[in-house]
Amino acid sequence: HAVKAVPYLNEGRELVKWFGSCTNIDVHKRALKQKDEFISIASHELKTPITSLMGALQLLDRMKNDPSPKMLPSLIERANKNVKKVNTLVGDLLNVSQLNAGQLHLNKARFKLGPMIFNCCEHILAEGRFEILIEGDDSLEAFADQTRIEQVVINFINNAVKYAPASKQIFIAYTAGQGFAKISVADKGPGIPKDKLQHLFDRYYRVDSAGSQYSGLGLGLYICAEIIQRHSGEIGVDSQLGEGSTFWFTLPCSS
Ligand code: ADP
Repeated sequence: HAVKAVPYLNEGRELVKWFGSCTNIDVHKRALKQKDEFISIASHELKTPITSLMGALQLLDRMKNDPSPKMLPSLIERANKNVKKVNTLVGDLLNVSQLNAGQLHLNKARFKLGPMIFNCCEHILAEGRFEILIEGDDSLEAFADQTRIEQVVINFINNAVKYAPASKQIFIAYTAGQGFAKISVADKGPGIPKDKLQHLFDRYYRVDSAGSQYSGLGLGLYICAEIIQRHSGEIGVDSQLGEGSTFWFTLPCSS
C-alpha cells in the first residue's frame, strides 16, 4: 500500500492527528511485473532470429571468394526467414503501441473480397507446402481498410501454417449474411481446448505459453480483434480438439 498523509496541528501547534489516504498499489505492481516479463519475452523472441541471421551472414561472408558456394541458397533462405520473423515481431509491437495511443487510423474504401483474399494467400501458395481451398461469393464487397483486413486474414493463415503444420490444407470461405460478410479460415490441426478459447483474443495470451514449442508474443489475435472491433465487426473461433480450428470475422456490408 502507498500511504500519503499530512499532519493536523491544533492552535498550539501540537500534533492532533494525521489525515491521509491509503492506495492499493498491488495493481500497479502487477502491471509493472507483467511489463517486465513481456520485455524479457520480447527481447528473447527478437534475439533468437537475430542470432540465427548473424550466423548466416558470417557464413556468407566466409564464402565470398568461393567460386561455387553450394550453401548459398540455403543460407539466403535462412537469412530471409529470420528477417521476416523479426519484421513480424516488430510490426506487432508497433501495432500494439499504435493501438494503445489510439493512433491506428483506418483508411476505408470499397473493395472486392475475392481478390483481397487471393492476395493474402500468395505467400503461402508460393512456398508450396500448403494447399488453400477458397470458396466464396465473388460479388461480395466490403467498405473497410483493405490493408488492415488483409493483415487479419494473413494472421489467421499464418497461424494455421504455424500451429497446424500437419493439416496441409487451409479452407477459406467468404459468404454473405444479413447486412454483413463473414470470412473464415479453417485448418485441420490439433484444435484448441474449450477452456482456452475465451482468452485467445486477449493481449499477450498464448495457449501453453511456458511449454510452447512455437515462438510468439501472444499479440497477433489481439491485434486482429482490435482491427475488427474498429470496423464494428465480430471476431471468433470455433474449435474441436483433434479436429481443427476455424477462425472467423464479420464486416458490416451493404450487399
Ligand atoms: P502467438 O502466435 O504470438 O502466440 P496469437 O495471438 O497469434 O499469438 O495466438 C494466440 C494463441 O492461439 C497461440 O499461442 C496458439 O496457441 C493459439 N492458436 C492460434 N491459431 C491457432 C490454430 N490455427 N490452431 C491452434 N492454435 C492456435
